[in-house]
Amino acid sequence: MNHFPPSRDVALARLADFLPNAGSKYARDRNVDAPANDRPNVSMLSPYLRHRAISEREVLQSVLARFSPSTCEKFVQEVFWRAYFKGWLEHRPYVWHAYNRDVQELSAELTANEELKARVQAATSGSTGIDVFDSWAQELLDYGYLHNHARMWFASIWVFTLRLPWQLGADWFLQHLLDGDPASNTCSWRWVAGLHTKGKTYCARPDNIRRYAPRFFQGDEPAGLERLATQAEPISENPDLLSEPRAQPHWPQAPADIDRSRCALLLHGDDLGSGAIERYATVGALSPSPLSPHGESTQVRRFRRALTQDALDSVNPQQAHSRIVQDGETITGWLRETGVSEIVIPYSPVGPTAARISSLTEDLAAEGIEVIIDTRHYDRLAWPYAKAGFFKLGKKIPELLDALSMSRSNG
Ligand SMILES: Cc1cc2nc3c(=O)[nH]c(=O)nc-3n(C[C@H](O)[C@H](O)[C@H](O)COP(=O)(O)OP(=O)(O)OC[C@H]3O[C@@H](n4cnc5c(N)ncnc54)[C@H](O)[C@@H]3O)c2cc1C
Repeated sequence: MNHFPPSRDVALARLADFLPNAGSKYARDRNVDAPANDRPNVSMLSPYLRHRAISEREVLQSVLARFSPSTCEKFVQEVFWRAYFKGWLEHRPYVWHAYNRDVQELSAELTANEELKARVQAATSGSTGIDVFDSWAQELLDYGYLHNHARMWFASIWVFTLRLPWQLGADWFLQHLLDGDPASNTCSWRWVAGLHTKGKTYCARPDNIRRYAPRFFQGDEPAGLERLATQAEPISENPDLLSEPRAQPHWPQAPADIDRSRCALLLHGDDLGSGAIERYATVGALSPSPLSPHGESTQVRRFRRALTQDALDSVNPQQAHSRIVQDGETITGWLRETGVSEIVIPYSPVGPTAARISSLTEDLAAEGIEVIIDTRHYDRLAWPYAKAGFFKLGKKIPELLDALSMSRSNG
């Protein structure tokens, strides 16, 4: 069954359905890993939010229109966790690059190390004999989604019980999650392993799983819980990594007086929306970039492609020649047909799409096409507070919300 039809309308309908639960019920029940087909306690909006088929600002506005800030505080904070992780990685792009190098090296090791390969295969095919873990593996393969608590338990068991490299688990998630996100995924796996908050690990405990995933305890006790690690010593990594100086990211903004009717807009998998989409001469979308060197599941590929097409389908028919484009050459051809020589691209945070956009920008400049990168107001407000722990951003949320309600339409 498809739990995530690839459309903005579905995301909006899901938000409307979830709204009554976003207040005190969310604060009380959000940690419960309920059965996959019955999860009113969480929004299940992440596959849409991750690609910005619906924006954080839209979600926050709806929730705050219904509840007082204190009643929906927990939900609002969770929404800001996405901005936090993105902002954190913006300041430390080398963490993403190091992770990618590790994935490449470990993948090469897998071909030579039969024993490691067999253990990874057991974990990713749901045949470790730890029933809860195996069910989550199967659920991820089937639906492309796991509840947050299940992700934490899964990652913890992967790292501390199965003793597998966290990078391979993170990579497997990126191949199968419909919401796969370089920042949330990498930082969350690092957090579980004790690398994000130095020395603080997350240890999955049977009593915690019993309490928050009662669906596994209806009949016989699930097998394998006695095997769970009781200690979670932080994983070590090259100490030089985090002592690298923080990057000084630049988050450009389109000039206020830009004449959008003479520009193209290029959407992409990090941002499939724009407050002013109907004002552009033409709208295109970059074909989605796989997040893992091993590609992505068929389910993820179809979802991302269809969500991209859905964004283009909302374009007014009078906006000329909207289409999905692959590279500098096809973009140049598209713009020539349309007769525009300026293109606006929403800012893409650290990850494969950003890398593609950066090389595209050079190719397009060589063809005389001016590229204007536009960072959302929401991101420019939140990211500067994401240099260390979440706390610093968390305490700014009331101020950020004030600033957002006064902001321009390009949220
Ligand atoms: C090991 C691990 C890997 C993860 N990988 C990803 C990933 O690749 N992509 C991804 O989007 N999320 C990831 N998360 C975060 C989180 O699990 C999901 O965002 C959340 O489960 C989405 O479900 P929901 O929309 O029902 O969330 P809700 O509980 O309804 O929360 C609302 C929104 O808040 C944001 N949010 C909530 N919790 C988190 C969180 N912990 N971190 C960041 N944003 C959050 C999401 O945008 C979410 O849609 C990961 C968490 C862990 C522990």
